[in-house]
Amino acid sequence: MRFFFQLHFLKSFGPCRNGRHSSQILAGISVLLMTAWSQPFYGATAKKPAGTSGKTVKTEATSGLQPTPQPLPAMQTPAVRAITHGDREVPMIALTFDDAPHPQYVPRLLALFRAEDVRATFFLVGEQLKLFPDVARAIVADGHEIGNHSLSHKNAVRASAASVEEEIVGMQRLVKELLGVKPAVYRPPFGNVSAEVKRICERENLAIVTWDVDTNDWRSGTTREMIVRNVLDTATSGSIVLFHATHLKTVEAVADLIPILRFRKLQMVTLSDLLAAKSARPAKPRLAPHQAGPVTLQLWDTPANNKPPAAAPAPVAPSTHSIQMPVLPLP
Ligand SMILES: [Zn+2]
Repeated sequence: MRFFFQLHFLKSFGPCRNGRHSSQILAGISVLLMTAWSQPFYGATAKKPAGTSGKTVKTEATSGLQPTPQPLPAMQTPAVRAITHGDREVPMIALTFDDAPHPQYVPRLLALFRAEDVRATFFLVGEQLKLFPDVARAIVADGHEIGNHSLSHKNAVRASAASVEEEIVGMQRLVKELLGVKPAVYRPPFGNVSAEVKRICERENLAIVTWDVDTNDWRSGTTREMIVRNVLDTATSGSIVLFHATHLKTVEAVADLIPILRFRKLQMVTLSDLLAAKSARPAKPRLAPHQAGPVTLQLWDTPANNKPPAAAPAPVAPSTHSIQMPVLPLP
């Protein structure tokens, strides 16, 4: 009986993105509204997954488990943008798994990552953590990152300020108490961020992180092959990939993806490692318009009118010639 309840509870989480709202809108609200709502929130650049466009997918929303959608308040102001990816120049990628810990699929993922020497990020929901703390402890023991995915997966834009506070701060407290670690990243349920969420996360030193690659694995119509294709079509350096730790097909797709991502020279790292990584390219020099005084420019000692060699700049060292040029203020 208890197990039945647990499974039912797991099923009730559903998607971590606004796709659920899109489905609800499709059920009866005008096309105009649908167009506006279906835009990715806060600048997310995720492309529509291959093979799913135009299909009507049965979800919790269409199966009658969800309440009638309410108009969402304005929430995508530039001030509440979430992080959607890391540095595009760094050959790293973060695989992230929401709605963890799941008693069946998280252990399978952990075994896979152990065999492949891959690090990932698991976003835990408090109610799940209370049910399966040992699964969560195994995540920590294997060196993966734990993220905050709220206490009970409430939609922050529909909850009161006090409730949002409890969902985020209470989860920080619970993770610390049960796992002994302090999450540094927060993934908002359904991807919804409000000014209140931003204020609390800033105070708690939590980075609000969504994704730029959505596998759509929570949809019943998405197959293992479609998950793999979604990632391979859209993931690139610095990508943050959204999975859910609640499906066998996700585990199987990840097993397919690991060797291909490795072949593409993308290192699979935790979110915090991805966000901390910066490319080694030198910063571009900047001159403020008001900057006065001479600047020394190096010239290339080549026959082509002081242009740098077009190709194979092999052992040609820069000339030591230099001239002094004044910098004129811009108009
Ligand atoms: Zn979720």
